[in-house]
Amino acid sequence: MVKKRITIVGSGVAGLAAACRLQALGHQVTVFEANAYPGGKLTQFKLGGYRFDAGPSLFTMPDFLDDVFLAAGKNPRHYYTFRKIDSTCYYFFADGTHLNGYGHVEKFAKEVENVWGIPRQRVLAYLQSSRHTYDTAGTIFLQNSLHRASTWLTCDVAKALLRIPSLGIFTTLHRLNQKRLGDPRLVQLFDRYATYNGSDPYQAPGVLSSVPHLEFNVGTFLPVGGMHAITLSLYQLACDLGVTFRFSTPVKEIQVAGGRAIGVVADNSQQPADAVVSNMDVYHTYRKLLPAQRAPEKTLAQERSSSALIFYWGIRRQFPQLDLHNILFSADYRAEFEGLFKTHTVMPDPTVYVNITSKYEPADAPEGCENWFVMINVPANTGQDWDQLVVTCRSYIVKKINRALGTQIEHLIECETVLDPRSIEVNTSSFQGSLYGTSSNSKFAAFLRHPNFSSRIKNLYFCGGSVHPGGGIPLALNSGKIVSNLIQTKGLSGGLT
Ligand SMILES: Cc1cc2nc3c(=O)[nH]c(=O)nc-3n(C[C@H](O)[C@H](O)[C@H](O)COP(=O)(O)OP(=O)(O)OC[C@H]3O[C@@H](n4cnc5c(N)ncnc54)[C@H](O)[C@@H]3O)c2cc1C
Repeated sequence: MVKKRITIVGSGVAGLAAACRLQALGHQVTVFEANAYPGGKLTQFKLGGYRFDAGPSLFTMPDFLDDVFLAAGKNPRHYYTFRKIDSTCYYFFADGTHLNGYGHVEKFAKEVENVWGIPRQRVLAYLQSSRHTYDTAGTIFLQNSLHRASTWLTCDVAKALLRIPSLGIFTTLHRLNQKRLGDPRLVQLFDRYATYNGSDPYQAPGVLSSVPHLEFNVGTFLPVGGMHAITLSLYQLACDLGVTFRFSTPVKEIQVAGGRAIGVVADNSQQPADAVVSNMDVYHTYRKLLPAQRAPEKTLAQERSSSALIFYWGIRRQFPQLDLHNILFSADYRAEFEGLFKTHTVMPDPTVYVNITSKYEPADAPEGCENWFVMINVPANTGQDWDQLVVTCRSYIVKKINRALGTQIEHLIECETVLDPRSIEVNTSSFQGSLYGTSSNSKFAAFLRHPNFSSRIKNLYFCGGSVHPGGGIPLALNSGKIVSNLIQTKGLSGGLT
């Protein structure tokens, strides 16, 4: 095979995965990264005596990560290890009830029966159906490019297409959950899964009921060393394979000649390449790196996913009633999502997520203390007064935590820093600070995401949370795989076939 020079713009997990796979195939890969470090959103920082994962906190589907190492002929366990977490999440409801979201179907169904008196069969049937939906829809949506004829001609996909009417594509997640679960608290718990790709359960299709399957039937995991170990392991693999990294070197332009990508401009000079893979948000790739090219305006105009406001708190006490993942639900979930997606603001009683890695990684906090990552969903940045919202939301959050845990949390915070949609955009070039690119608030969302290649510019490819198959670590990793497969099967020509 002819060795090609491939340039990757950005070292988010998708860029790292694509880099490893393409280098392992024999290409010569160079990654340009604007930051001084790899990983994009999946990074970490230290504050006082505490370590914090800055972005993602939930790790599902480790097989997708392992697959990157296996494709390179390496043993993933030589690069990172992980543990299964017993509880997917601890839930605190507005009516005062608490629930342990055991990561074991039978145990979870029993917990629901014990706490609320809801027959366990209802939960078991729901999770069985969740598995069916994942097995069917995952075949179509997650593993392949949706924009190549060859995807639609395989036997597996043909079988999956026949089962589409049973997947909940033509209803919303909320309606599907109401019909199948009945109890409003159980509905709220399963509606939450729309937020896993930054969407609204009252608009997003019922096919998202496939997501709980991953947590309850497969499991939730935490890498040893915390989430950042994912970035470190991929970066180490890339280095071992011989990928070249150029940190603190933002790409300023993707060069196009004769309808082909021929390289990039970075570090004040032209850097020729046989193919360019952009892991930068597709919106900014077109606007900033390809300003002279015709952009797919309809695709770029799609609604963005939600963003996040995060308070990283060093807490000088331990809370045994909390675990790794904890959710304090709002009383009015519908109002919360209307705020996020219709009025683009935050309601006074937001759902609060608290992640504490020191529960499993004691070195992440000083003795007797905990590292709290306290997050609420907020709208994408469309120019809201974030300075004011940060102050207001902090008081909403403190009030809610104090009520749920019977504490005075503000007196226990010994160090603090904040991430808001503006800083997410600045740190990773994600348009409007969205966590997952575009939202899935439409039944056609999966088809409307930008493909993993350009149909107008040959040898230009896209990976990462803003393109197919979407955001979140597993899907972003998969986009790296799809790009590598496209380059391998199509050669370096791009274009829709
Ligand atoms: C607060 C938060 C919480 C999240 N929680 C979860 C979770 O629990 N579980 C989960 O699975 N996912 C979660 N996500 C989403 C997840 O982080 C992303 O989907 C995933 O990391 C995908 O990243 P990516 O490959 O698209 O690249 P990104 O992480 O967006 O990185 C893109 C990289 O490209 C670089 N770049 C951009 N433009 C240029 C340029 N012109 N030149 C050079 N470099 C450039 C950026 O500096 C950055 O390093 C969360 C995200 C955030 C922010």
